[in-house]
Amino acid sequence: MNIVIFGPPGAGKGTQSKNIVEKYKLYQLSTGDLLRKEIKNKTDLGLKISSIINSGELVSDKIVSDLIERFISNETYKNKIIFDGYPRTLNQAKNLDNLLKKYNQKIDIVLKLSVTLATVKKRILERQIQENRTDDNEEVAVKRYKTYENSSEPLLEYYKRSNLLKIINGEASITEINTEIGGLIESIKGWLWKITQYKYAIT
Ligand code: AMP
Repeated sequence: MNIVIFGPPGAGKGTQSKNIVEKYKLYQLSTGDLLRKEIKNKTDLGLKISSIINSGELVSDKIVSDLIERFISNETYKNKIIFDGYPRTLNQAKNLDNLLKKYNQKIDIVLKLSVTLATVKKRILERQIQENRTDDNEEVAVKRYKTYENSSEPLLEYYKRSNLLKIINGEASITEINTEIGGLIESIKGWLWKITQYKYAIT
């Protein structure tokens, strides 16, 4: 099963992804983590993108597309990916569909965590103390929220049309969200199992 987890910065995508990874033996593909690793290792790419990330803008579609293709094309991760922070634009969503198709895969569910700007500010300031991320301060948090509203919100319609979208109240407690996501994943797993049985029966 491939899952997309989607929502503004500070919505809890990373926290929930880690829970799902443990419970369902999936692999978390966080484009933000991959990009921060490039910056930390001072690679050519890292040097090129650090100012973009620190300003709260998005890096180019090409850069993130190359990063995720390395993951999608790897047999180890086949149909076991949770996409955290990708896609973030309509163009990226279409690219993801094409890449998954190329490697004989698809998205099974899109989880959208909804939170207000006030919650985003509060959580990002808390995270700044714990993780010391350079883009976690109030000014950049607001900028990242605006980037999300402008570039990423249009994706909702795209996923609504394909019937994959599940909206979750990201203001609830970590455990409550966890339980809700678990229920959704179990129901999808049930469906996937039934489809497999059906295909098996008719062949
Ligand atoms: P995140 O850890 O997901 O909040 O991402 C941190 C930053 O990395 C974002 O504010 C963007 O600058 C960059 N980034 C992460 N994922 C993407 C993406 N899919 N497309 C473009 N930029 C991204």
